[in-house]
Amino acid sequence: MKQYDVAIIGSGPGGYVAAIRAAQLKLKTVIIERDRLGGVCLNWGCIPTKALLKSAELFDEISHAKTFGIQVETARADFPAIIKRSRQVADMNSKGVDFLMRKNNVDVLYGTATFETPHSLIVSDAQGKTQTVAADHIIIATGARPKNIPGVEVDGERIIDSKTAMTLEKQPESLAIIGAGAIGVEFAYFYATLGTKVTLIEMLDHILPLEDEEISAVVARNFKRKKITMHTSTMVTKVEKQENGVAIHLKNGDKEEHLTAEKVLLAVGVQGNVSGLNLAKIGVTHRQGFIEVNDWYQTNVAGVYAIGDIIGPPLLAHVASHEGLICVEKITGLSPHALDYNSIPACTYCQPQVASIGLSEQQAKEQGYEIKIGRFPYTASGKARAIGARDGLVKLIFEAKYGELLGAHIVGNEATELIGELGIAKTLEATPEALFGTVHAHPTLSEMIMEAAGDAQERAIHI
Ligand SMILES: Cc1cc2nc3c(=O)[nH]c(=O)nc-3n(C[C@H](O)[C@H](O)[C@H](O)COP(=O)(O)OP(=O)(O)OC[C@H]3O[C@@H](n4cnc5c(N)ncnc54)[C@H](O)[C@@H]3O)c2cc1C
Repeated sequence: MKQYDVAIIGSGPGGYVAAIRAAQLKLKTVIIERDRLGGVCLNWGCIPTKALLKSAELFDEISHAKTFGIQVETARADFPAIIKRSRQVADMNSKGVDFLMRKNNVDVLYGTATFETPHSLIVSDAQGKTQTVAADHIIIATGARPKNIPGVEVDGERIIDSKTAMTLEKQPESLAIIGAGAIGVEFAYFYATLGTKVTLIEMLDHILPLEDEEISAVVARNFKRKKITMHTSTMVTKVEKQENGVAIHLKNGDKEEHLTAEKVLLAVGVQGNVSGLNLAKIGVTHRQGFIEVNDWYQTNVAGVYAIGDIIGPPLLAHVASHEGLICVEKITGLSPHALDYNSIPACTYCQPQVASIGLSEQQAKEQGYEIKIGRFPYTASGKARAIGARDGLVKLIFEAKYGELLGAHIVGNEATELIGELGIAKTLEATPEALFGTVHAHPTLSEMIMEAAGDAQERAIHI
């Protein structure tokens, strides 16, 4: 039996980042992975979807090339080649993690880990061979998998999940997507741009329901232009497989309707990968599949920790990584700051992109804040006009008296890059004066942040 300081189960952005930090801090570290290094994020989530979306964006841009004075005779999307590129990008990233593990002297074991005691794991590989690993500290970073809804069974053919949606051999003619969160919306944009007839179904009253309503409305307007059919406040009551497709029964209040599609993509959220870990044997508690932890990611059992999707929302790669860093630093006796869950950027990479941090307008009001809002539309930005990206909005929400930045919301070109500035602003408690007083290069999209801060003080220049 090999003895380690730290054993980490799962090599996603939570697990592999924790492993590197542990190795940097001179802990003898092993990581155990049953699939591919890099976890969902690098192999079946963030990275391959962004590769697919880049192809869709490019196709979109080429279709509008005439606007930029460029004549393109015919542009045709080669679906299998798009999927192949996305898989290559995922492979490249997974190999990158393999390199990082070797560079940092982290041992990698391929197999499924199960707890034997709070300080030992049994690892079974694909050939059924088992070995025991002992560690002073064990970090569970096993992530999550797509959730089902009752009566709708994913069969990988007619009813698919996100993993199948990013690896299909043939582009479907029509696709109904149940769930209009970030994953559903990104696939809606991808498939609709390539010419699939897409229907998006959301139980709540707007698409991207976690985003500020004013921002989601801009995406909805663009999706409408793309001929994506959207049903909000709508429940799926039944999904029936048919010979050539699927019939989906919907209920909106008293109104019932049904539609058909070649395939249905289920994108209604995820559930934690707790099964098979033998948590009951060692006494680790979890609620609805998500492990409960304190600020330092310690579970209720000494020496056992959990980070990433397995501890529940926000279910994001960058959150998992930061939790991993904090967890390991605390184990080694350093004094990291606890993660501020009010300052987590959330991004959706459709076009127009969406990015936000902190409270929405509605949340700020519900929490009793007196607020001042600054807005700046893309249409008033010189850079946005120059690059042909006039649809979008920067919306900043400040606490009225002291000017604390409570929330920032961007919809439009490069929103997911622009949000970085606002993350720093929030961490450093920048006021609207500071944001407006910071000289931003011209012409850039980031000037819109300065202008929106100016608008909150009624001194924006270009609107
Ligand atoms: C389609 C899609 C798109 C996404 N896009 C984004 C995005 O753009 N940005 C973003 O921030 N987030 C995105 N996410 C979410 C992101 O992928 C997750 O938040 C992130 O991967 C969580 O990291 P993690 O380390 O907790 O777990 P994971 O990345 O899920 O990794 C867990 C690993 O543990 C392994 N494992 C599980 N059980 C065991 C066991 N018993 N023994 C050994 N190994 C085990 C699994 O095989 C897996 O590799 C997306 C998710 C999906 C599905």
